[in-house]
Amino acid sequence: MKSISIKWKIYFFLLGFCALLLLILWLSQVVFLDQFYRFVKIGEIKSSAASVEKSLDSTNLEELVERIAIDNDVCIEILSENGNALYSSGTLRDSVILTMLPFEKVRLLASAQEHGGELMVYYNRESLRESLFPNAESTRRIPSIDIGRQSSLIYAKIMADGDGNTVAVLINSVIAPVDATVNTLRIQLYYITGFMLVFSIILAFIIAKRVSTPIEKINESAKTLAKGDYGTFFSGGGYREIDELADTLNHTAKELSKVEKLRQELIANISHDLRTPLTLISGYAEAMCDLPGEMSEENAQIIVGETKRLTTLVNDVLDISKLQSGMQQINPARYGLTESIGNIVNRLNALLKKDGYTIEFLRDAEVTVYADESLISQAFYNLLINGINYVGSDKMVTVKQTLADTWVKIQVIDNGEGIEEEFLPHIWDRYFKVDKTHRRAVTGTGLGLSIVRSIIQLHGGEYGVFSKPREGSVFWFALQYEK
Ligand code: ADP
Repeated sequence: MKSISIKWKIYFFLLGFCALLLLILWLSQVVFLDQFYRFVKIGEIKSSAASVEKSLDSTNLEELVERIAIDNDVCIEILSENGNALYSSGTLRDSVILTMLPFEKVRLLASAQEHGGELMVYYNRESLRESLFPNAESTRRIPSIDIGRQSSLIYAKIMADGDGNTVAVLINSVIAPVDATVNTLRIQLYYITGFMLVFSIILAFIIAKRVSTPIEKINESAKTLAKGDYGTFFSGGGYREIDELADTLNHTAKELSKVEKLRQELIANISHDLRTPLTLISGYAEAMCDLPGEMSEENAQIIVGETKRLTTLVNDVLDISKLQSGMQQINPARYGLTESIGNIVNRLNALLKKDGYTIEFLRDAEVTVYADESLISQAFYNLLINGINYVGSDKMVTVKQTLADTWVKIQVIDNGEGIEEEFLPHIWDRYFKVDKTHRRAVTGTGLGLSIVRSIIQLHGGEYGVFSKPREGSVFWFALQYEK
């Protein structure tokens, strides 16, 4: 099923919200206004009764009762046990307790007593007559007083004052009929509803459009990006989250374009790196086949050298793919790191002596590590070969082993051309070469250091470089050793 668009979702959501507000308004202002009003009145009466009860023993009771009556818009009367009024306050128009006959009050108190000391009745004279005097004979004696359409709420509570005397509090609140108010409100609400509906339909549409437009734009840009246009620009339209998304996508587009550039460079480099030795090999091999005079050891050496170069390239590409795809398993074992490094140094020394290179190995102890010997050797070999490739005029590379705490650090030091500071963070990246001009003298795939990094990371070790242009470089890695 096709999902609903964000614009319409927001639109209907806002409309729904507006409809809910209107419903609440109608329910509270029209349908339940009467109940709510009575509820408030009951609250007022009860709080007045509580205030009176608290002030019963105070010396200025009369004054307090007067204030409570005015504050809560009620009429209050305090009666003695036998129904005599002790205090009476409140200027409520249409108050019924002021017009009640004494025996009616006595009856009311008796009824309150029967109901556990508390009684709340809605009152107009008819209903009071019925509830208080079920005996029809006696009701006739009560004169009916017209209190209009208003009805009263009467609350009677029996209390004890500080001296243990029983007193009764009568509180009367007038309930004004709300019908007329409801009618006015209803008409008003018709207008409000109409206005709100039109207003919210327009507003919801504007809001929905404003929120959805930048998202739709980002979506369009993302589609262009997916087609391979890495110059696509994303903008967020001024909303923080969408701005952040746009920033992320801009960053992604930039990174993708870098990867794309790298990929193209890589293809160019690798095809160049592959083609040159292949051309040489086939050229020399053909010459040796066709011209008997070319069958020299020197030419054969060139073929062997170029084959090695090809093998290194292919191996490096395979190694880094394996390492970075997580397919490379490490087979750790205890072995003598110092000894292993010493062997590599000796072997290379023997090979390179005739070209005038010297590799020096300084060590402070013989250490054992728990690691994959062939991988660590490969990492060290890559650093050492780089040292030799970029060596200075002294043709001297120093390998130094130092111990600190539980770590053994291997440094490969040369006094060669060094590396500009701006390139330092990138040299560990795949296919990164400071000099892109492919000097044949310095062979390299740009993979050596990233292989070192992957291997050391797999072993939980550390690695790094110090380098100054024209002064030389120190490449190092460190592993935990076994004491
Ligand atoms: P490469 O196969 O090109 O040597 P690496 O990943 O081993 O690739 O090295 C990346 C780049 O770092 C090299 O192209 C080179 O510019 C620079 N580099 C590495 N080692 C040294 C060094 N000892 N001295 C100067 N530059 C170095």
